[in-house]
This record gives sequence, C-alpha cells and structure tokens, in this order.
Amino acid sequence: MEKMVIGEWELEYDKSKTLEAYKKHKTSTEECACQSCKNYYHASKYFSAEIRAFFENMGVDVEKPIEVYDYSTYKNGKVWYGGWYHIVGKIVKGKDIWVETHRADGDIVYHRGDMHKVADDLEVGFTLQIYLHNDNFPDNIFQMEINFWVPWVLDDKECLKDFCTEE
Ligand SMILES: [Zn+2]
Repeated sequence: MEKMVIGEWELEYDKSKTLEAYKKHKTSTEECACQSCKNYYHASKYFSAEIRAFFENMGVDVEKPIEVYDYSTYKNGKVWYGGWYHIVGKIVKGKDIWVETHRADGDIVYHRGDMHKVADDLEVGFTLQIYLHNDNFPDNIFQMEINFWVPWVLDDKECLKDFCTEE
C-alpha cells in the first residue's frame, strides 16, 4: 500500500491492484457515442503532464473514468466536467466529500463539500459512496470525484455550442 496526502485527505492505495483493474476496465467514454464522452476520451490524451502524473501515481488510467458528465458549461474553449474514478485502498483520514444532511421532513439529502485543487483546471475529493462498482475492481475501493475543465478537442465546434452555454 502506498500513502498520499491530498488536501485534508490521507489515503492508502494499492497502485498495482488499481493499475490491474484499469487494464481490464472498458471506459465508459470509449463505449458511449455521445459528443461529451467522445471529447473527454480524446482530450485525455492531451492532458498536461502534471495532471497525467497525478492520475498515474495512483495507478489510475485517466482515459478510463468510471463515469463522466458535462455541466453544459464552457469557457475559453474548455468544458466543465464532473465524474469519478475508483481506486483500490482506503481513506485513512478526511471527511467524505458527500455531506449528508437530514431535512426537517425526514429525507436525507447530499451535497458535495469543498474539493481540493491539484492542478490548473482540476479539483478532486474523496468518498466511500461507491457508484457503478464493476467486477474489474475488488471490494476495498474508494471513489475520487473530479471537477475538471477539459479542452474541447473535437473538430465540431458548433456541436459544443449546441449543448453548452458560455460562462
Ligand atoms: Zn456519453
């Protein structure tokens, strides 16, 4: 197990097991035909060295998110994406990024807490609320949420304007 401190979080992760899982994992963006996924997949090949190193250090294949979605917002040629990646290991210290609130009517709602900036355009946070856990990953995983401004690299610029509003 490797250790890492990111902002308020202390993480213990298994780089080789995470690498192994991502080798087997089929990316959602590779499989989805929508422009948003297609763009993330192609743009990931041009992420900065700093961003690629951040993911690689944990054994995460940045080209294979478990899930990504765009917020229909862009500025300076970049589209705002959310999404998440799974990592083998555990969160040793730090609050779950999804904060649970009990409403007066008894319902439980969640809102995302403060993310930590790891590079220009990229913020992350960690949670034990695992979504879309697939068979390629073992049970002992945690989830890394991303807040990411990703360059639009597809030729079709009009398409970007169709589904996004400029901030
Ligand atoms: Zn898609």
